[in-house]
Amino acid sequence: MKGKSVYVAGHRGMVGGALLRRLAQEDAKLVTTSRSEVDLCNQAAVFDWFAKTRPQVIFLAAAKVGGIVANNTLRAEFIYDNIAIAANVIHAAHLNGAEKLMFLGSSCIYPKLAAQPLREDSMLTGPLEPTNEPYAIAKIAGIKMAEAYRSQYGSDFVSVMPTNLYGPGDNYHPEYSHVVAALIRRFHEAKLSGAANVVVWGTGTPRREFLYVDDMADACVHLMKTYSSAELVNVGTGEDITIAEFARVVAAAVGYRGEISFDTSRPDGTPRKLLDISRLDKLGWRAKTSLEDGIRRAYTAYLAESQAKGL
Ligand code: GDP
Repeated sequence: MKGKSVYVAGHRGMVGGALLRRLAQEDAKLVTTSRSEVDLCNQAAVFDWFAKTRPQVIFLAAAKVGGIVANNTLRAEFIYDNIAIAANVIHAAHLNGAEKLMFLGSSCIYPKLAAQPLREDSMLTGPLEPTNEPYAIAKIAGIKMAEAYRSQYGSDFVSVMPTNLYGPGDNYHPEYSHVVAALIRRFHEAKLSGAANVVVWGTGTPRREFLYVDDMADACVHLMKTYSSAELVNVGTGEDITIAEFARVVAAAVGYRGEISFDTSRPDGTPRKLLDISRLDKLGWRAKTSLEDGIRRAYTAYLAESQAKGL
């Protein structure tokens, strides 16, 4: 990456923002573009911009993302936008001779009932979790594109699969956010209003693994520098927790002391999603931020971001 032009696609998103923070420590020429300038779903706009800019190294962290309700409700947008972004950026990278591209997938590409922890080679071995199938299919298309361009053209395109991410720059929408942002906001608002009960969706029994987004960015930079293969690489902490236990971690970080109840009319989604991180481990990277520290930092970021937005 030294001295190279490095394009972060999706720099306004949570992962892209963390990548920019991490890449500021590298000797690289960072390139970004706003959505008003280049809509990544628009093939002509992407191709024109790439022909003009010709980035050498690309982190493809742009995506339409959201929690279980967003994925399940905006099914058409999730499949269309994510296939279009992957197809346009990967092909433009190829046409303009990019030296390296990293595609960011998701742990939801693995079959709903795959053996846990989820190994990279379990992709496409069984049916997906229905609530996020359109998103997962789009991400699988991106992974398969990176793989196909590597095998046909020799492109140095790699794919990494993050577990559930959280941290600064998250989306705190009450309905469409992921669980971390949703619970930070709900516990905070309950603390302020003095509410005696906070509702958590589902049964509380699903298990999830959570990675602080700055750790994710650090893993991406490490792999961008050291890794080149068609094989996917999972990026996680190797530890998971039930949603009920997780809710208590968030409540403690926020300082909410009331009751917690569960709304079982809300979907649980996949029962467990823990990544096998042995490949990442062998590649010499480990997460640094504990869940408790990460949630405290995410809460501090939420307070600053919500104040800035006047929420
Ligand atoms: P998923 O990992 O794709 O299922 O994404 P989410 O982060 O949206 O949900 C993770 C788990 O947290 C699911 O079992 C949800 O039912 C549960 N959950 C509990 N409360 C909430 C909430 O307020 N919002 C969201 N999005 N999920 C919640």
